[in-house]
Amino acid sequence: MIPPFNDNLTRFVMERAAVRGAVVSLDAAYREILGCHAYPSGLRRLIGETLAAVCLLANSLKFQGSLILQLHGAGTLRLLVVECDASLSLRATAQWEGPITDDALLSDLAGDVRASRLVLTLDPKDGGPLYQGVVALEGTSIAALLEHYLAKSEQIESRLWLRAADGRACGLLLQRMPGATDVDAAMWGRAAAAVDAAPAAFGAADAHALLGFLFPGDDVRAFRARSPRFGCSCSRQRVAGALRLLGSAEVESILAERGRIGVDCEFCNRRYEFDPAEARALFDAPPAAVH
Ligand SMILES: [Zn+2]
Repeated sequence: MIPPFNDNLTRFVMERAAVRGAVVSLDAAYREILGCHAYPSGLRRLIGETLAAVCLLANSLKFQGSLILQLHGAGTLRLLVVECDASLSLRATAQWEGPITDDALLSDLAGDVRASRLVLTLDPKDGGPLYQGVVALEGTSIAALLEHYLAKSEQIESRLWLRAADGRACGLLLQRMPGATDVDAAMWGRAAAAVDAAPAAFGAADAHALLGFLFPGDDVRAFRARSPRFGCSCSRQRVAGALRLLGSAEVESILAERGRIGVDCEFCNRRYEFDPAEARALFDAPPAAVH
């Protein structure tokens, strides 16, 4: 049975051309992420589009760690962070200052392109080195920026369509594989034009209906759907590590002012509390290693 669109991601290939892609729908995952903070609606849309994009990119990478997109803006939007790990666990957070209109474009929100930047980080999560790519904020949408990034850094011609509205974020990624023939070029042009011409296709009930609607008569093979979901990797242990980095003097000054330490996870809003004894114990010398 084909699962209806409900937090799923389906990868597909065109059997007769070197074109591949994936389609994603984020439903409860998107709504749960939005539920963590009171975001204005123009920002909710941008977060949804970015979640769908990062989920599609993370799935297309042959990589077992996390993909993190960080947008440092110089306009109303100060920071947007969206993270997706290899199991398609997603989380997001944003910081903004001032009003955001419902139809605000990314370029309106991020402000001066010379002062803002988008950083993509691949974190292997095994202590190995991070890979970071910086994308110039030249483009009015997340889709345009990431298409440009994929063409430059991955050498893969890509098209990305993103939609977020009414508690649902969805996206479609099309990629033209290297070694393309004339047949592939024709298929690539036709496939991209079909998606451009049919924005309503994103209202389809499931991935197969959407692909059948967009590419009727083409031999499209869809793979088993994966299930993206909301998940936060925060933990008391990580907060303890951050407090140790902050240093004993700073922690003592917070204790003097507030009596205890309270840290809220900026992604999921979970609160971690440390009473004075627990906070001071973080700076005790570690027990000697047993030989
Ligand atoms: Zn969290």
